[in-house]
Amino acid sequence: MIVAVGNYTGFACPACHRSSPPVTDEDYDAYFRGRHWTCPHCPHQSSLWKLIGELVRNEHPLTPGAVGLGLATTSLGHFPLRADEWLTIDLSAMGVPPEADVISVVMTPGAAVFPLAHMQQTRPGPVPHAFSLFGKSLELDATEAIVNLMCIWFSPGQDPTLQPLVAAVEACTNARFREAVVPASVAVEDKLGAALYMHYSQFAGRKTVDEFLSNGATFGYQLNPLLRSLMALVGAPELPTEVASGLSQLRTLRNKVAHEHREITRASAADVLVAAIFGYRYISLYESMLIRQGTSGL
Ligand SMILES: [Zn+2]
Repeated sequence: MIVAVGNYTGFACPACHRSSPPVTDEDYDAYFRGRHWTCPHCPHQSSLWKLIGELVRNEHPLTPGAVGLGLATTSLGHFPLRADEWLTIDLSAMGVPPEADVISVVMTPGAAVFPLAHMQQTRPGPVPHAFSLFGKSLELDATEAIVNLMCIWFSPGQDPTLQPLVAAVEACTNARFREAVVPASVAVEDKLGAALYMHYSQFAGRKTVDEFLSNGATFGYQLNPLLRSLMALVGAPELPTEVASGLSQLRTLRNKVAHEHREITRASAADVLVAAIFGYRYISLYESMLIRQGTSGL
């Protein structure tokens, strides 16, 4: 029987190393308005762009950036394991939902009974929610030991428009860098396309707007100049240069992945993923400003 200790999301402050909750909409809004992220525990301030970049580029399998971004959860627990007996572990006892993608399970034996498992390598890729362990005694008189268990899983049931971004972060977390690029781009393309569709539907019929956004102003033109000019007119903060150039890099890399079979490094996947996260949040925060008050469209 697992004793659940707790579920955590968030990240450690780079200065005081105390745990900070995941980045919020308010933090993103402050970044777009030119303010720094401030640690809730100490006076440390950092550019949110730099902070998220460090989270996404973090290669440590026990502290993946997805947990800091609030897209994945770390669950901790412990259980007794008896020597020469089988034990079935079911992660639902730690609150892991059945539909969650479990990406990592780490077990640390507390004494001389070692958990033997059929699956010794739990990365990369989803691992089973239930598995059996055999208690192997490492000392003649050892009969029972407490085993600590840590499990990292991606949260199901998030906002459907967030799904491509979650898929991109999950691919990157599992070191499938090439597979991260297309969903990262789709996340921004879909979000931007939907925001512009809502905006232009106030001025033209569905067919005209569809054709305009599919054949006329394709993704590159939607990013620049459409998004820039519209957001400037309604008084939203300007898309920062580092995000704009990251999104342009994302477009280029997406086309290369789609048309050329080339390997993508962790660094280039992380760079475009960070841009996608900020691009998505920017549109999500300010898209409502593109809708006139009191109108319902044509
Ligand atoms: Zn701090």
